[in-house]
Amino acid sequence: LQDAQCERQAMSRITSLVGDITKIEADAIVNAANSSLLGGGGVDGAIHRAAGQELVQECRLLHGCKTGQAKITSGYRLPARHVIHTVGPVWRGGEEGEPDLLASCYETSLRLAAEYSCKTVAFPAISTGIYGYPADLAAGTAIKAIRSALGDLPGIESVMLVAFDEQAHAHLVKALKRKE
Ligand code: ADP
Repeated sequence: LQDAQCERQAMSRITSLVGDITKIEADAIVNAANSSLLGGGGVDGAIHRAAGQELVQECRLLHGCKTGQAKITSGYRLPARHVIHTVGPVWRGGEEGEPDLLASCYETSLRLAAEYSCKTVAFPAISTGIYGYPADLAAGTAIKAIRSALGDLPGIESVMLVAFDEQAHAHLVKALKRKE
């Protein structure tokens, strides 16, 4: 019974919505960065544009980030207090450790958020744009990793999965309904 309750609690802490992550008022938003952390296209470009020049200045001091890892900065002009920069895997067919690396992005980002006392965290669909990770597979892996990490991070009250379009949202909703 206790396990079932924990699972139910963990599930209700995860929500999916359609929107622009740069507009989200969370303690931290996660950036799907590249390993240089110096900015790029997609959500990375949008976050840097919205945060302003100071973000890349702070990022320069971090000397990059490995795939599956995460680093934190201030949010500057964003409504979010922090940006957690994580580097998703490039999809190479799925046999090169992509699922574990993607799961690690979500897990390390949440641990870092908890370390910085963030209660609300918003994620984009990491790796599903330029990096080519199939959105349905990525959604399943993301939710499994988040559920598992939230089990020992009671300080995180809400995780928002921000889909940029309806199709990405549909994949997340489907994965959220699935019981693992
Ligand atoms: P990656 O290189 O990790 O694939 P991308 O930025 O190319 O990163 O894409 C990751 C996901 O972020 C894609 O699903 C893309 O549609 C989405 N995305 C792009 N801009 C935004 C935004 N402003 N807010 C939320 N999601 C976004």
